[in-house]
Amino acid sequence: MESLWPQVEPLLAHVTKPARYIGGELGAQRAEHGPDAVSWLLVYPDTYEVGLPNQGLQILYEILNERSDAAAERSYAPWVDMEEAMRAAGVPLFSVEGHLPAGEFDVLAFNLSAELVYTNVLNLIDLAGVAVRAADRSADDPLVVAGGHCAFNPEPLADFVDAFVLGDGEEVVGEVNAVVAAHRCGPSRPGAAGADDPARRTNLLRDLSRVPGVYVPSCFAAAYDATGRLEGVTPRFDDTPGVVEKRTIADLGAWPYPRRQLVPLIEVVHDRLNVELFRGCTRGCRFCQAGMITRPVRERPAAQVRTMVGEGLERTGYDEVALTSLSSADYSGIEDTVTDIIEDPSCSGQVSVSLPSLRVDAFTVGTAAQIQRVRRTGLTFAPEGGTWRMRQVINKLIREEDLYAAVDAAFGQGWKRVKLYFLIGLPTETDEDTLGIVALAKQCVAIGRRYHPSVTVTASVGGFVPKVQTPFQWFGQNTIEELTRKVHLLRDAARPVRGLTVRWHDPRASAAEGIVSRGDRRMGAVIEQVWRRGGTFQEWSEHFDLGLWTDALESHGMTLEDTVYRHRTEDEVLPWDHLSAGLHRDFLWQDWMDALAEHGLPDCRWTPCYDCGACTGFGVEHVVASAVPPAGGSQGTGQDLSSGGQVPVRFLSTAPIGAAPATRPGDCAEALVPEGRS
Ligand code: SF4
Repeated sequence: MESLWPQVEPLLAHVTKPARYIGGELGAQRAEHGPDAVSWLLVYPDTYEVGLPNQGLQILYEILNERSDAAAERSYAPWVDMEEAMRAAGVPLFSVEGHLPAGEFDVLAFNLSAELVYTNVLNLIDLAGVAVRAADRSADDPLVVAGGHCAFNPEPLADFVDAFVLGDGEEVVGEVNAVVAAHRCGPSRPGAAGADDPARRTNLLRDLSRVPGVYVPSCFAAAYDATGRLEGVTPRFDDTPGVVEKRTIADLGAWPYPRRQLVPLIEVVHDRLNVELFRGCTRGCRFCQAGMITRPVRERPAAQVRTMVGEGLERTGYDEVALTSLSSADYSGIEDTVTDIIEDPSCSGQVSVSLPSLRVDAFTVGTAAQIQRVRRTGLTFAPEGGTWRMRQVINKLIREEDLYAAVDAAFGQGWKRVKLYFLIGLPTETDEDTLGIVALAKQCVAIGRRYHPSVTVTASVGGFVPKVQTPFQWFGQNTIEELTRKVHLLRDAARPVRGLTVRWHDPRASAAEGIVSRGDRRMGAVIEQVWRRGGTFQEWSEHFDLGLWTDALESHGMTLEDTVYRHRTEDEVLPWDHLSAGLHRDFLWQDWMDALAEHGLPDCRWTPCYDCGACTGFGVEHVVASAVPPAGGSQGTGQDLSSGGQVPVRFLSTAPIGAAPATRPGDCAEALVPEGRS
């Protein structure tokens, strides 16, 4: 492969942020390409700033480059100005390390972390000079694979991606590498044995379909009934498994990656050292796909966390480390781990620790106060629902007292900004639930005023999009009009409250996400049309265009009503039924019924197993460092889940709630800001 740098360099003077395209970051690997190494291009289908911090991509990057039979480089979606310059100059997609042409790699591997990037995936395959549709690729074209959370409903991309990987990638990536190596797929193997055999690509795909955790769409056929409903997605060959099970690594401690986290050349999102505390979550929030598909909980040993933090800070020069997971405060060794990092003499008291997913209780705020003593910015909590009833439906069992105690503790310990995350458009939601968001946020402002007159509370509101492999996968999403009405309800109720800001996600973007998130194989034509009509960077508000999506739906005989807004029935075949995240379908259905009945479900880390299926067949159970539930919190602590029980919460201030002066109508109009990625 020859470097494209001589063609790339002249373009950089004419585009924004040229550092996106030059590579050479601290932590960048020198890929050893050679005749015996399968070449991988790991592609994040969004900008460098969004994609570089992605931990999944960085983990695979290191694991592959440690192998003697693999060589991996990275690529990110060029921004629109760079793409235009590249297409005008005839420069294809390239890697940032060696500036090697994407189309000459053996494997193009995409990370799918959001549905609205799918049009970027098509665009990048095309920019690589590779046929966009898998069926049009020749034996010498790269293998196009994809993984990440969205791979649990791969059908909308089935026409474009050769193979999907479900679940943890650490082990399976080596197995895919071995199969590709055996077939010598790709143009970097000219003259390889059997290179002129037209069946070479088909044979490769057949072999890949037998690797556990790998789904090859071309080895499955989708059938529809006379009304157009999906009848099933079934294997076309006897030796293809009928159900593809996700991969699960049992021991996170065996995979201490990334060892050499990349340090970006320009500011990126999450610009800090990231160390993963544990994988999986059993709190059981019913809207949360990440929590459901990553079960069971597997903790990283505390000693390894400390080593990764110490070495990572020293090597990168960062002064901030995020201890990441889906609910970091639930890590069984969280207090000792945090204390050890902060009191490490080599850190000289200059290191900030952040827990990106705070639990809503005063105990956690106490921990946050300890760890943010260097740089005390805002604190974020996610009650998600505005009323206790709503939070029982979604199984986010946070009582108002929990939230107020946490907020009281936060303001009492010096924070002046608190952000609250909520969802609207949840199953069974009433206007009382929606308006409960403002009531909660208003009370939080009042609590804060007792400490400081200029505290601010931001309520960030997202429109709920049902996700596959969750109990809410059967729920018909709220219409754009209904979500917009709810946004207006919130906006009007919040306007008189000084210090309260309401931000919301564009309901039209939630609808577009819904089009893709539960679509079947026929949705591929819709995605392709949106892309062909210029619809890239649909995650970005300045590029998002709902009209492209609705026009494409109409062109292919589909409607928002049927694909997005319709409730699914228990007996309906779902497009992802042939793929398993380990969860029994009947468990998910029962949990959906429990949601409608407003029944909560405890965290099975600390209560008896209710056999969701996640631990069955993987040879793993929860791997936690302590048998004792973490202090504080409202799940798994033994309370009566039907009504909300007593949770020991230590108020850090003795001032009574409600002692603050009442807010005055018309004090100050709050900022009302629609949220987007721009
Ligand atoms: S199988 Fe049991 S212990 Fe494992 S995640 Fe499901 S409910 Fe929890």
